[in-house]
Amino acid sequence: MTFTYEALPMRVVFGVGSLLQLAEEAERLGLRRLLVLAAPGRRALAEQAATLLGETCAGLFTEARTHVPVAVADEARAAARDTGADGCLTVGGGSAVGLGKAIALTAGLPLISVPTTYAGSEMTPVWGLTDQGRKRTGRDRSVLPRSVIYDPQLTLQLPVDVSVTSGFNAIAHAVEALYAPDASPIVSLMAEEGVRSLAAALPAIAADPGDMGARTDALRGAWLCGACLAATTMSLHHKLCHILGGTFDLPHAATHTVLLPYVAAFNLPAVPAAEQVLRRALATDDVPMHLARASAELGAPRSLAELGLAERDLDEVVTQAEARPYANPRPVTPGALRSLLAEALKGTLPP
Ligand code: NAD
Repeated sequence: MTFTYEALPMRVVFGVGSLLQLAEEAERLGLRRLLVLAAPGRRALAEQAATLLGETCAGLFTEARTHVPVAVADEARAAARDTGADGCLTVGGGSAVGLGKAIALTAGLPLISVPTTYAGSEMTPVWGLTDQGRKRTGRDRSVLPRSVIYDPQLTLQLPVDVSVTSGFNAIAHAVEALYAPDASPIVSLMAEEGVRSLAAALPAIAADPGDMGARTDALRGAWLCGACLAATTMSLHHKLCHILGGTFDLPHAATHTVLLPYVAAFNLPAVPAAEQVLRRALATDDVPMHLARASAELGAPRSLAELGLAERDLDEVVTQAEARPYANPRPVTPGALRSLLAEALKGTLPP
């Protein structure tokens, strides 16, 4: 066995009520003026964070958007400059974290993150920016949050449909990490536990969104799955989701949820060891079918058509996917890719 594994510097504060440690975390990092970043829907939480920070709060910017449009990143950077911020605090899901990363990348301001979805971005040095319908992504250590506060209490209001798709978004990180070119035994451990934890928690959350135990398990799973993404190179699935989100504006987490079973069905036969881990984690012999069935049973969208993609868009998706090389355990021909997308467009799984 040979592998390379590079641990990323990351401090995690986890637990119900851990948001109360926010000011302490800022102080520990020597940060005195934090700009609080959030999406418009998380304004109340941003204000709560500002209150907890007291004088350490430099201001609020609550215009974060999915996929970080360049114009929004420019506006937020200007707000950071104008308020004299020496760091940023993101409260919310991947959209808020993404905005914080954009500022960290260009202005070098350190980040603290308080995630409230299961997207996992807070664990990764991966940034994304969208300009004129094209999403660019890259890796840079400077965008990795210095400290992440996971407080399950903050996820109690996350609607069931968002919880489910966000949870599958996290599971997708673990699935692709298991067959990544830079996979390793430690990544496999995190992936297996992350998938197991989320797969068990999501039905419990759907049954009772206020179930703190299930919320805690889901957030712990999201952390592990995010850490898998951070440690590895993603493949076909993430590539397609970037194109579908960046160019066709499909909703991020729902797109991951719909597409994952189709990519798993395509890739897993080429990677038996990865498939074995997922079989254990999901307690099934048929991983793609299980993923499709589980998400459908939890009320998630089943087809890309439901999310707004049209048959005429498929050629452009294939063209963009072919244009830039990416890792994948199985060679992807344009024909195979088109038929995978055509199946996902119609939502043929589960039959
Ligand atoms: P999001 O941040 O847009 O949040 C989804 C919705 O849920 C928003 O309307 C938000 O206001 C609401 N919400 C968030 N937390 C809530 C809560 N606790 N209670 C009630 N409502 C809540 O979506 P997301 O799926 O978390 O993130 C998607 C973005 O993250 C995309 O841009 C994606 O590319 C990026 N992402 C990046 C990485 C990475 O490593 N770079 C990883 C995963 C996702």
